This record gives sequence, structure tokens and C-alpha cells, in this order.
Amino acid sequence: MALPATTSSRAPLSVAALQIVQASLRENVALSTLAGLAESDPAFAIRVLSLVNSAAFGGGRKIADVKQATSLLGVRGLRNIGLNLALTDMVPWGESGSLLLIACLRRATACRLLAQAAGARDLDGYFTTGLFLDVGLLSRARADVTGTEQVARLPAQHRAIFERSLGLVDHAELGSGLASEFYLSHEVTEAIASHHDASPPEADLARMAWVAERVAARFEAGNAAQLVDEARAAAALLGLSGAQVDEVMKQVPALAAAAAQGLGCDNIDEKVVGATLVDVNRGLAELNQSYEVMVRRLEALIAEKEELAKNLAEANRRLETMAMSDPLTGLANRRALETALTRDLARADRDGRWISIVALDVDHFKRVNDTHGHSGGDQVLVVLGNILRTALRAGDLAGRTGGEEFLTILPDTDPDGALVAAERLRKCIEAERVVLPSGELKFTSSLGVASIKGPGCLRAATALVEKADAALYEAKRSGRNRVVRAA
Ligand code: GH3
Ligand code: MG
Ligand code: MG
Repeated sequence: MALPATTSSRAPLSVAALQIVQASLRENVALSTLAGLAESDPAFAIRVLSLVNSAAFGGGRKIADVKQATSLLGVRGLRNIGLNLALTDMVPWGESGSLLLIACLRRATACRLLAQAAGARDLDGYFTTGLFLDVGLLSRARADVTGTEQVARLPAQHRAIFERSLGLVDHAELGSGLASEFYLSHEVTEAIASHHDASPPEADLARMAWVAERVAARFEAGNAAQLVDEARAAAALLGLSGAQVDEVMKQVPALAAAAAQGLGCDNIDEKVVGATLVDVNRGLAELNQSYEVMVRRLEALIAEKEELAKNLAEANRRLETMAMSDPLTGLANRRALETALTRDLARADRDGRWISIVALDVDHFKRVNDTHGHSGGDQVLVVLGNILRTALRAGDLAGRTGGEEFLTILPDTDPDGALVAAERLRKCIEAERVVLPSGELKFTSSLGVASIKGPGCLRAATALVEKADAALYEAKRSGRNRVVRAA
């Protein structure tokens, strides 16, 4: 578990909470094991009881001890509690913390109430999902409370766009990245990632959370009437009537405040419920036509910026490929070969392994050009390029060093292996029949092989190429269409 340091958090990350989350993921974990974990940390046990007895958790049942809580809640229930307490532990102290926590709790209660209205089961699971929607904001608050509070005071639908305008990863993406640290399921992760999407997600849980986000947003900054309309429209996606959504919305503030108390966040209710009203009012006063226009422009600018960045990355990738490859054959060019040879020699040097290179030159290529024209000659080079590409092992590299000259690098290959590879190339080339408009042709090549074994071979790069060239020259001299190993 690698969460940031806990300097500004309300309480140290509860080890028991996370142990329970981890343990409850194991198949066939015994309830008594979980109860044992919960009891091992008395502070945690007290918090479990406070939470399960709060109105936010269904209420109605008075649970006296952890054993009873465990058997009533089951593995899943205890896991939810563990998650809820682990999240609460991330909340910073002070007013900013209250603001963030209540935002999370609104989403949690909204998600639970909506699920209940829609007839879903595992309501506590919905609560937990809603609670984690803004885990990205909580995480960011640990490094920058003021900046995060500024985000949280914006109308909810503008938060992610505002973060991106600052060049930050928005909290939906950030939060879904954190999900693995809490062992959240794929469905919950998806809900976190998509809660600010422009259109509703397909998956059931993600969609419920998406609607909960809009129901919660109704209690935050913005044009209240418009936000209610948006929440109703969103809930219609779940098949809920206007009256049902209104009932959910009526219950959210009180239940969120009760959950805050249940989670041991004292005195948060009045202050934050009060602050919410102020927020809404302040939001209304600040919100005018020009602000809306500005947000839309910002949105367009960010989309444009992202598109430009994508195009730039694509252009850079193409440029890089162009700079490293030979346009006629598509093989590596001389520069790419030099880079690769340096890298592979360094590796051979380090590992004390063999490395071999093969220099190759087409025999009597001038004649090919003379008989079939320059484009016929080019065609032969293309065919040769394809042979080199396909006849070599993965990990080997073939490139064109110029004209009708080629070089292949065979990492991890001793002199005998290199001789076999070179001979295979020579035979493939000899067997190839190139069909040109001017007629069919066959061609041959001469090859020079040189090998070296680390350490110290990195310094010998130039000498190695010279040796392969000398061997190639010897192959030419002794009759062509043959492989010669360097002395
Ligand atoms: P050898 O067997 O001794 O290698 O004889 P050769 O004719 O292949 O060697 P030489 O070096 O005398 O000639 C190479 C020819 O390759 C000369 C040049 O016109 C031709 N050439 C070099 N680059 C290209 C190219 O990109 N396309 C074509 N079609 N021909 C090229
Ligand atoms: Mg959010
Ligand atoms: Mg030649």
C-alpha cells in the first residue's frame, strides 16, 4: 500500500481497515478472521460500530460489538466498512477537509439512495462506490489543500475541465489510478474514471454513480434550478420518476451529515451543510452568462490542445521513423545501425557474450542497373530488403549502409552461428527470382562475417566493422557469391 504520507490527514491511515479490505478479497476468508482483525485495533473497532449504527448505514439495528457487527455485515459488508474508513483517513483536517468529505458523502448517499429507489441489491456497495468517486480529489488535497479546495468549490461539472486546463490529470483519471491501492473492483474503478464523462457510461454501476454525481452536484455551486433539472434528467436514465429523484434529493443532505458523524468526523454536519448553502448562493451570484461562455471556450480550447498534442506526437513518431529508416527498403539506415550496434556491443561487453555482424554487398550490381535500368536495380534492393527482414531471427537487425551494401547485427551469436546465418542469407538471395517488366533476373551476394566477445568489445566497434568489410572484400576477391569469416 503506497499512499502518500499522512502529514495533513485526519488520522493515520488505518492499518486495520486496509488489512480487512485485503483479507476480505481472499477466497473463503473466515468471518472470525475479519472480526479478529477489526478487534485488533480498538480505535478501528469503535469506528466500525459508530458507522454501522449510524443512520447512513441503514440505521434501525443497535449493534453492540464487533463480533455481532461482523456476523451481521458479512465479508462484503466489513470490506465496505474498511474501505469507508480508509477513505475517511485520507481527508485533510480543517474546513477544506470537511468540504471534500461531505462532497464524497453526498455522492455516497446519493448512490445508495438511487440504487435503493431502482430496486438494486448490495446498497452498501453502491455507497462505497459513490464515496470513492472523488478519491482523486482527496489524494490531490494531501499535496495541495488550497488548490484542491478551489476545484471543489467550482460547480461539479466544471471540476475536471478546470483541472485539465491547469495541465493536471483530472481527478476522475487520478482516482481510477488509485483504485488498485484500495483493491477496488474493475466496476468501481470504471465508475470513478467515468463519473465526469459527458455522456452516461454503459455499465450498470458506473451509470448509477454517474447519476449520483449529478444528484450530489445539485447541492454544490451552480445554478440550482438548472442543476435540479440535470439531476432529474440523469435519473430518468435509471427509470426513476421525477418524484423519486426529488425524494432522493430531499434525503441526501441529512444522510450525508449522518454518515459524516458515523465516520467519526465530528461537527462536520452543521458547518458543512451550512457551507453548502453558502456555496450555492455564492455560486449563483458568481455565475453569469460570461462564466458559462468562458467554461465552454475553455472546454473547446482544451479539446483543441489535446488534438494538437496528439497530432504532434504522431508527427514526431513519423519523423523519428523517417530519421531512422531507409526509405527504399524500409530497413534501418546507417544511423539506426550505428545506434543499435553501440547498444548491442555495450550489452555484449557487460554480459561477456558473443556478438556478430555480417556485411553484405550485391554482386555485379552495376550490371543489374545496366540491363534493367535504375528502377530495376531499386526493385532488386527492395526484394533483398524483404529477404533480410524475414530470414533473420527476432532480435537481429538488418540495415542498409548505402548503395547496394547492407549490414546485419546478430546479438548473442558466436562465429559459427553467424556463419550459419550468413550462409542462409546467401542461399535465400541466390534462390530468389525477381520479375521485372524488362524480364526475370537472379542475383547473388558476397558476405563478410566478423564476431567479437565482451568485455572490452564496445571500444572495438570500428575495428569490428572494418574486419567484416575486409572479409567481404575477400569474398569478392575469391569469386563472389560466398561467405567469408574474418581472420
Ligand atoms: P561488385 O560485385 O564488385 O560489388 O560489383 P558491383 O557492380 O556490385 O559494385 P560497384 O560498387 O562497382 O557498383 C555498385 C553499383 O550500385 C553502382 C551504382 O550505380 C549502384 N547503386 C548504388 N546505389 C544504388 C541505388 O540506390 N539504386 C540502384 N538502382 N543502384 C544503385
Ligand atoms: Mg468528481
Ligand atoms: Mg556490389
